Amino acid sequence: MHVRKNDIVEVLTGDDAGDAQSPTLGKVLRVLPDKNKVIVEGVNKVYRHLKPSRRNPQGGRLSKEMPIDASNVLLYCPSCRRGRRIGKRYTADGAKERYCKKCGSGLGLLSKPNPKYARSSS
Ligand SMILES: [Zn+2]
Repeated sequence: MHVRKNDIVEVLTGDDAGDAQSPTLGKVLRVLPDKNKVIVEGVNKVYRHLKPSRRNPQGGRLSKEMPIDASNVLLYCPSCRRGRRIGKRYTADGAKERYCKKCGSGLGLLSKPNPKYARSSS
């Protein structure tokens, strides 16, 4: 899985997809690794109509986001201002981090620094 909970992603396909001028961005609310799907805030919403009930005399609409395929989203790179393919690499102190393959900027650490992978300055 290339995205995690609370990541900001760009949605590439589907009814909610944007374009280069106005990419559709959203926060990942949930990741469903065994289905390779993600739930993105405000994307792929479905509405359920509710009959009036005692608790809710007006009735109304409930909206909720449905999962979309993880391959349809890319992690958002603030430097590129687009969703981008990411790679993984080790920082100088040995922490694993994600980075934008396009511009090379770091997009967050995935692990704590590990001396085993640290680049020695000697
Ligand atoms: Zn970038």
